Amino acid sequence: MARYRFCVIGAGIVGLATAHRLLCEHPGASVVVVEAENDVAVHQTGHNSGVIHSGIYYEPGSLKATLCRAGERATKEFCAEHHIPFDECGKLIVATDTAEVARMDALAERAVINGIECRRVSGAELAEMEPHVTGLAALHLPRTGIVDYRRVAATLARLILDAGGELRTGQRVVAIQESTAEVTVRTASAAVTCERLVVCAGLQADRLARLAGLDVDVQIVPFRGEYFRLPPSRAGFVRRLIYPVPDPALPFLGVHLSPTIAGDITVGPSAVLGLARQGYPKLSVNLRDVASMAAFPGLWRVAAANATLGLKEIGNSMFKGRYLRECRRYAPELTKADLLAHPAGIRAQAVRRDGTLLHDFVIERTDRMIHVLNSPSPAATAALPIGRHIAALSE
Ligand SMILES: Cc1cc2nc3c(=O)[nH]c(=O)nc-3n(C[C@H](O)[C@H](O)[C@H](O)COP(=O)(O)OP(=O)(O)OC[C@H]3O[C@@H](n4cnc5c(N)ncnc54)[C@H](O)[C@@H]3O)c2cc1C
Repeated sequence: MARYRFCVIGAGIVGLATAHRLLCEHPGASVVVVEAENDVAVHQTGHNSGVIHSGIYYEPGSLKATLCRAGERATKEFCAEHHIPFDECGKLIVATDTAEVARMDALAERAVINGIECRRVSGAELAEMEPHVTGLAALHLPRTGIVDYRRVAATLARLILDAGGELRTGQRVVAIQESTAEVTVRTASAAVTCERLVVCAGLQADRLARLAGLDVDVQIVPFRGEYFRLPPSRAGFVRRLIYPVPDPALPFLGVHLSPTIAGDITVGPSAVLGLARQGYPKLSVNLRDVASMAAFPGLWRVAAANATLGLKEIGNSMFKGRYLRECRRYAPELTKADLLAHPAGIRAQAVRRDGTLLHDFVIERTDRMIHVLNSPSPAATAALPIGRHIAALSE
């Protein structure tokens, strides 16, 4: 049986950044990444908005606030070093009514505490900066950017291989056993042992933790993020990322307009409860996922506490007109004909049995294992510092 110093499960951006960091800090150490899919970045890392977040939203002192801020810089430096295109296009958080102006001003105070460069702009200045966007006022975050995280993940994978690491794709982990001396990881066709195991399984994080014998209180609940794309006739419709003011009670940021590094402008994502953790077409259902959600009291509590919002999101998902209403609050010229089909993403959101949505990154440890139990947005932005953080915990 092959033996490694470090094994990382999951070749999303968090697992790859961790394996890369481990190889940087332990040159020559044996490192293997085990991935269920046939390629890297197949799930959340390859289905997101591609935003390099600045870190304005997050609770001061939280892992999200600290690691996102470091990640914004680290991601741009990494991209510059490895010739990955990115664009520091900036972002506007647009308030469209007086209640949102109050929440926006609170966000500006948080920006100061979090050390984020940000400037309040008036409705008139907003119209000058983005002629197709309207609002009472906005916050301008000049450092927010865009990138294709698939390119970042592919580059990390190449660097891992160049540094002597191994990448075993198409190998779904089905068993994990920790003993005092080592950890054994089994797939259907192979087994490896390692001194330290790091699990970065995204949408399957809770299942792998239970497989490894951890008594975890959380379950991953999939929230579909459905997008549209503007037609080529709307090229240049916005130059910056345009976001609504988020609801502070929710971990999602609302439907936004995002220029992408490929030259499109996406509209989205929504946040609809998914019936399959890894099923991307609209009506995907996975019976195992549905059964585990139905048996999980936390989900029923979240559903009860957010019934109105949940129904609104389902309505937005089913009827383009309702989705459009969200966008037209700040981009009134958009019409139904502007919303073209675009692939969805699925967010892994950890929820406690008592129905609490976990907002921060959550990392659990045993003697020889580290499990990343919650790595939602902005974990793509924060992946490089998360990798550094985990590598420090693996000492
Ligand atoms: C719609 C959407 C929009 C988002 N927008 C942004 C954004 O603009 N900016 C940002 O910073 N973040 C964004 N995010 C969040 C970001 O994409 C995720 O936080 C990040 O990709 C998480 O990376 P990960 O490596 O933890 O998970 P993943 O990318 O999901 O990777 C987990 C990997 O583990 C593998 N795995 C699972 N089970 C097993 C097993 N049994 N054996 C082997 N391998 C296994 C999976 O196949 C997968 O490859 C968004 C997410 C979504 C869904």
